[in-house]
Amino acid sequence: MTETAEDLTRRHLVPVARLNLLGEPDLTHLSVYQRMLMSGEEWATGPALCGRSTTQGPLPDGTEVTCGKCLAYQSRYERMLAPGYRPEDDDPDVLRERLERAHAELTSMSGQIGDLRRELEAHAETRQLLSQWGPELRAAFPVLFKKLDILLTLRQSEEGL
Ligand SMILES: [Zn+2]
Repeated sequence: MTETAEDLTRRHLVPVARLNLLGEPDLTHLSVYQRMLMSGEEWATGPALCGRSTTQGPLPDGTEVTCGKCLAYQSRYERMLAPGYRPEDDDPDVLRERLERAHAELTSMSGQIGDLRRELEAHAETRQLLSQWGPELRAAFPVLFKKLDILLTLRQSEEGL
């Protein structure tokens, strides 16, 4: 069977046997099967996904994997080994940071919208009050409004400084 260039860079998961050591749990693990560029043409398996050392080389296709930890990592590794995978898409820290940034932007935006709305409401309320009561109030309390005008003018000139 000839391998295409893509096949040569492709890595995939294969079942691997445990080390034949006393006290080693009797489990079949999963490992990444890849071409070792450093050592030339060799395809090789590494440690199991669960971290245990394993016997070199894949077991036949369809061998049942019995290590629960390896099986728990399987879907994540398959995502990582898929073509077009971007590491940052699977990094919880990057994703959390992205989420926090989006949340902060949203919070700041909704804060600004809230401020604008309150300002608009205050303006609308003032305008409504003035158009409703302004002329009558002015007529009823001319001295008070005169003082208010003076105060406002003073404040404006203070702000202008
Ligand atoms: Zn395992």
